[in-house]
Amino acid sequence: MSRYRLAPTPAQGQALLEHCGHARFVWNLAVEQHAHWRPGRRSSPGYLEQCRQLTEARAEFAWLRAGSQMVQQQALRDFAQAMAGFFAGTHGRPSWRKQGRHEGFRVVAVKPADVRRLSHNVGAVKIPKVGWVRFRWSRAVPEGVKSYRVTRDRVGRWHVAFAAIPEPIPAPGTGQVVGVDRGVAVSAALSTGKMLSVPTLSEAEKRRLALLERKLARAKKGSERRARLKSDIAELKAREVDRRRDWAEKASTELARDFDVIAVENLNIRGMTRSARGTVEQPGRNVRAKAALNRGILAAGWGRLVERLEHKVAGRVVRVDPRFTSQRCSACGVVDREARESQAVFRCRSCGYACNADVNAARNIRDTAAGHAVAARGGSPLGRPVNREPQPVLLS
Ligand SMILES: [Zn+2]
Repeated sequence: MSRYRLAPTPAQGQALLEHCGHARFVWNLAVEQHAHWRPGRRSSPGYLEQCRQLTEARAEFAWLRAGSQMVQQQALRDFAQAMAGFFAGTHGRPSWRKQGRHEGFRVVAVKPADVRRLSHNVGAVKIPKVGWVRFRWSRAVPEGVKSYRVTRDRVGRWHVAFAAIPEPIPAPGTGQVVGVDRGVAVSAALSTGKMLSVPTLSEAEKRRLALLERKLARAKKGSERRARLKSDIAELKAREVDRRRDWAEKASTELARDFDVIAVENLNIRGMTRSARGTVEQPGRNVRAKAALNRGILAAGWGRLVERLEHKVAGRVVRVDPRFTSQRCSACGVVDREARESQAVFRCRSCGYACNADVNAARNIRDTAAGHAVAARGGSPLGRPVNREPQPVLLS
């Protein structure tokens, strides 16, 4: 996905907002239909049925009819996609879209002639019922754009994101497997010992955000001051989102380039949130810190990293069963629930191996993916860590 800053004229901005309103209306209708559904009832309407209902709604409401049918149909398609993600357990249940917060729409069946370059740093994209809208040509637009999504963030900035299937990044061919564990203090630990952390706001920015939020709580409803505070807050939050997005792009490209196989825990966002509390078989790791984790960071950081990875590596991501990855010693294979010196340190009481707890988990993930998990209890005879590199032959 390549995002560009869109620069609509005021009149075009109005027309874009109308598309957003239609897409939101249609999306929320679909949410409402699904909200009434309960297990055991007749299935809720699928995409085709909803399209038929959309046709009826367009016949009934002139304001809806005046909009682009494609924009409205795509909102339904996006919703169907979101429901599929929900049932697959990779995404949360699609929820209501709110005005000013989730503004956007998708356009498909884009032809090569619909995107053009006007000058060195100005491009234009043809938007149904709006016409040519300029955007900042900040980097090359990918070849073979199939669709694009137009969004307006809370600060009021418009973006267009062109979607072409990204060129898969070729495997380095070294046979190397890397395990990635989503940590807490650091966002992800690699089995190589490297830590990846999702950027957040700086301490100063966090303090400023907290201050603005306190001021907002006291500001009078409808006042100009309140509006200004809101926009300042939105700007800080947008900055954080941008940073995470960049991070996920860079980190996923790096992993895809450096390793043949990338192993991750087979967890979904909802599962992750649940595992903060832990279950009997699998007590939560870093319980307190995880409970404090904000859902947005989970979704936007880890989820996006894995998603981008899967786009880029075409079949080189392996999801492994997460059971015991945090309690098993990656050196000798003994599962020991108490092998935790602290939240951060794993120390095996059988063989004495000590390691950062997240890195230990990442190594278990790597070894499971490579088929090298130590099955038996009991370590090496010498009681020392054993260095087991995954064998490339197992990966083909
Ligand atoms: Zn051990």
